[in-house]
Amino acid sequence: MAKYPLLQDLDLKGRRVFVRVDFNVPLKDASVTDKNRIEAALPTIQYILEQGGRCILGSHLGRPEGQRNPKYSLEPVGSALSELLNKDVVLADDCVGDGPRTLAQRLRPGEVMLLENLRFHKGEEENSTEFIQKLNELTDVYVSDAFGTLHRAHASTAGLARIAPYAGIGLLVQKELQYLEPLRENPPRPFMLVMGGAKVFDKIALIDHFLDKIDALVIGGAMAYAFLKSGNSPIGKSLCDDKQVALAGRILKSIAVRNIRLILPLDHVIAASMTATETKTTVDVNIPEGMAAFDIGPKTVAAIETALEKIETVFWNGPMGVFEQPAFAKGTFELARIIGASGAKKLAGGGDVAAAIGQSGSGDKFDFISTGGGATLEYLEGKNLPGLKALEILERGVQ
Ligand code: AMP
Repeated sequence: MAKYPLLQDLDLKGRRVFVRVDFNVPLKDASVTDKNRIEAALPTIQYILEQGGRCILGSHLGRPEGQRNPKYSLEPVGSALSELLNKDVVLADDCVGDGPRTLAQRLRPGEVMLLENLRFHKGEEENSTEFIQKLNELTDVYVSDAFGTLHRAHASTAGLARIAPYAGIGLLVQKELQYLEPLRENPPRPFMLVMGGAKVFDKIALIDHFLDKIDALVIGGAMAYAFLKSGNSPIGKSLCDDKQVALAGRILKSIAVRNIRLILPLDHVIAASMTATETKTTVDVNIPEGMAAFDIGPKTVAAIETALEKIETVFWNGPMGVFEQPAFAKGTFELARIIGASGAKKLAGGGDVAAAIGQSGSGDKFDFISTGGGATLEYLEGKNLPGLKALEILERGVQ
């Protein structure tokens, strides 16, 4: 964290402060169904207002692909934000140009303005110099607080961070780094890594990064079938492809030469299809032909619970099953409960797992749940995130 200028290092009084936030929230019928990401941005916004700054917020929402599209308007986010802040939020109908510029000029200290979706302009994702300049015209200060988008080299993340005359990282990014940096570099041992979800390819770099730091590795979700198949366990018609099996075989070898305790599913919740109403729990690891596994079973949960007894740190990424469907959610929710109840330091993040833990009701038992998906994984893999790199003190010093 010492590598970056902080929000608290900036003199904000009277200044127009652009904060890149991550308000990419789920919407239904033009209202926000999960306010977590908006709530996560509040400390930075409130800090700026307390300091007498003029707060101008920018975010993307969905994938409008450079076109104005009312479906992806940030208007519902503005209403939710106004309620949470208990104050008016000025809504701009665009993010660059005369309209927002005039509104930004009129904004008074202690006031908040929300720009319209940054991705209504192609320049955002293309990281175009012209679009960066237009954004830069609106404000005097740049604050990076959208942790979930730091892995993207977009105009409002890396682009603006690089050229802004006065910049720092916000309180959410600081909090993410406060938990994720020690985890990435030196997790207190014994360390358990719990991986789930569907895409082995997306997770392989994370397992690779931690290979010499983990004491226990749990693999669940659809990922597990590639590992089981590689060990010649019958997996029926569970989700799996041959390329993933080859990759899983390579990881299994890397684990076997190290002293890592590997926990793969010992039993499963199976069904003929994901939408079938009839489900069964297998007695052992074998999945009958014609059936597919969509969740881990109780023996697997018990094995993880026992292994957790000796663990100091656990990081969990990816659901243990198709948790979006109640029939296949139990393994994931049970895992949230047993990790929550363990004495280990408990961290989670990357994609669906934050939503799953939230739904399980065990969210408050975790030490930290990252707001990032891909950004969290890339950071933990040891990659340079373009949005962060651009703000490194030494980087900015040599521009
Ligand atoms: P990922 O994006 O790789 O983290 O994968 C998350 C998705 O994996 C979720 O939408 C889950 O529904 C899905 N998933 C987890 N377990 C299974 C499974 N056993 N079969 C099919 N999909 C699964």
